[in-house]
Amino acid sequence: MQALLAFFFIVVILFAAIVFVIALLGASFLLRALNLLFSPFKRKAGTKGVVMGADGEPVIDVMVKDPVCGLYLPKGDAVRETIGGRTLYFCSQECLSQYKQRA
Ligand SMILES: [Zn+2]
Repeated sequence: MQALLAFFFIVVILFAAIVFVIALLGASFLLRALNLLFSPFKRKAGTKGVVMGADGEPVIDVMVKDPVCGLYLPKGDAVRETIGGRTLYFCSQECLSQYKQRA
């Protein structure tokens, strides 16, 4: 009788161990699935506040040169104007109108 009880005990422990391993694998799989599911949101949050330019590149931290006064300024702050197929960046509307008068 005792041998049967011991055998039953071992079977229960083995079953518990198998369930534990499956639960662990399931949890890691679930975590990976969740990570995959939420990664687009994370990426979106990472680029939050970045203004995408018409040319498809982020306008933050890209320095451009004003062809009129030679000032370097962030692309996002620049006055954008496409002249003759070329996109030019100016520090102000005054520089833009000066460039247009010169051209
Ligand atoms: Zn300027």
